Amino acid sequence: MSAAKGMIIKMYDAVIIGAGVIGAMTARELSKYNMSICVLERSNDAAAGASRANSGIVHAGFDAKPKTLKARFNVEGSEMMPQIAEELGVPYRQNGSLVLGYNDDDRKILELLYRQGQENGVRGLEILGGEELRKLETAVSRSAVCALHAPTGGIICPYELTVAALGSAMDNGAEFLRNFEVSEILEDKDSLTIYASDGRSVKARYAVNAAGVYSDKIARMVGDDSFSIHPRRGEYLLLDKDCGGIVDHTIFKVPTKKGKGILVSPTADGNLLLGPTAEEQEERDNTDTTAAGLNDIIAQINEEAEGVPVRAVITSFAGLRAAADTGDFIIRPYKTRMVHAAGIESPGLSASPAIAVRIAELLFELGLKTEKRADFKAERKSYYWFRRLGAEEKDAYIKDHPDFGKIVCRCETVSEGEILEAIRREPKALDLDAVKRRTRSGMGRCQGGFCSPRIVELLAREQGIPIERVTKSGGGSYLNICRTKGGGQA
Ligand SMILES: Cc1cc2nc3c(=O)[nH]c(=O)nc-3n(C[C@H](O)[C@H](O)[C@H](O)COP(=O)(O)OP(=O)(O)OC[C@H]3O[C@@H](n4cnc5c(N)ncnc54)[C@H](O)[C@@H]3O)c2cc1C
Repeated sequence: MSAAKGMIIKMYDAVIIGAGVIGAMTARELSKYNMSICVLERSNDAAAGASRANSGIVHAGFDAKPKTLKARFNVEGSEMMPQIAEELGVPYRQNGSLVLGYNDDDRKILELLYRQGQENGVRGLEILGGEELRKLETAVSRSAVCALHAPTGGIICPYELTVAALGSAMDNGAEFLRNFEVSEILEDKDSLTIYASDGRSVKARYAVNAAGVYSDKIARMVGDDSFSIHPRRGEYLLLDKDCGGIVDHTIFKVPTKKGKGILVSPTADGNLLLGPTAEEQEERDNTDTTAAGLNDIIAQINEEAEGVPVRAVITSFAGLRAAADTGDFIIRPYKTRMVHAAGIESPGLSASPAIAVRIAELLFELGLKTEKRADFKAERKSYYWFRRLGAEEKDAYIKDHPDFGKIVCRCETVSEGEILEAIRREPKALDLDAVKRRTRSGMGRCQGGFCSPRIVELLAREQGIPIERVTKSGGGSYLNICRTKGGGQA
């Protein structure tokens, strides 16, 4: 390691590497027990990897091959999701999903998916003919002649779930170290010492590898080279909220070898989502969108739903699937002190609550000794509590808390009070994207053109830093180079 090794901050019972949905859910699950927990994250916030940019579908569980970990944890996780979402105050809707077929060959694939779903334990599956299909979902393409209907499929905002799960773990005592890029792990008799690239380190009695596309690199640090991760990029188009009601269900075509293919779905926040593409790539951080990828999505949409106005696109984004060469989730211990949660590609979001429970069990099997706490706080206040109030309740609240009466983001109607709460509440929002992920400010039609400068001012004021030091998403992503009036170079 090149950096000088610095002070060891502390010894924890469990250290979780990666603050994606798997790391955050695991931290929350472990915080139900008497133990010290720390989550390490290389970025400036939680949900910086795949958990930030995915389809947000809580899959019913018919897609995964029976007897795989994907099948088991998908079905268990999606059954657990409604209660967890409720406890964490995260909007979740069971809108059901439809896989469309266009001919007899497709019907055979749908029947296979149906049988797979039955074997995996998915409830309520049914195969529909064209007429029943169109009764259920009017906007569905006329060329579809049959469909598999999975009523237990749902939608959730993946980054909101991740931030809320980590927040819940922190409400219950877990710690969160950001900008801590794990670069070396040394093992001694009783613990692991985990070093960051800047020289900081922590000690862990047990560690969880939940590092997404980097989970094979973390495995190598403890001497395990039994698997490798191959990033697969998925690009998306997001449409304005006016379009969120075009379809009610999440609509797929029959899957191909490359995966579940392009979907059309409402999001939990009321937009319409189109995508993702599937492209293998070497780089583990490249989430650029491409003209070819976006055109590929546009070319396929009419086969699934009619009347989707592509000109209503407000943004595009991409996420990286952490596909393992084993083809399944890798959830197992390595030697005596680490549990891997690697290769967690889709349906990892859906499976996350169940994976977290399994990781806790594996840590106990390794020898982690603890007992359940009586004082675990399961409930967490939603970031959306204020906007859910009625007009009179809002007025009454604003009288005593005038910041909630100042609208900063006009498109999504987000007040200064809500933004300040996101900045002050754990896990604190320290940059513009982090505020966006917690409040939806900047996610509307103007994509932050109006509200960003005010949010930057609030971030600077609250952190006691000049506005030139405020970033979009940590690191060197500064938003302002220097002041043009009344100040000099930053
Ligand atoms: C395009 C796409 C669509 C998807 N759609 C769905 C869907 O609809 N439904 C579903 O169930 N699943 C879906 N998934 C899968 C789901 O997003 C993932 O399974 C899930 O987000 C994985 O979470 P994770 O915590 O394992 O990984 P991540 O969210 O990637 O988190 C890993 C974290 O580890 C951090 N990290 C990495 N290296 C280090 C290091 N050295 N030190 C410290 N921190 C480190 C990263 O910064 C990151 O924050 C989709 C995925 C993609 C990409």
